Amino acid sequence: MTDTKKLCDLCGLIVETPTYTWKTKEGIKVFCCEGCKGIYQLLNEDDILPEPDQN
Ligand SMILES: [Zn+2]
Repeated sequence: MTDTKKLCDLCGLIVETPTYTWKTKEGIKVFCCEGCKGIYQLLNEDDILPEPDQN
């Protein structure tokens, strides 16, 4: 079976719905929860690109 589910870029859990994401220099990072997203921001602040206004 080929499954294209994404994995949390911090803890490696399967991300059912990519609700928590950061746009970084290396591409879009996805996270399983707001906690992982927050920790990734602390650790990789320099890699995260500023988010433009989302309409
Ligand atoms: Zn996670």
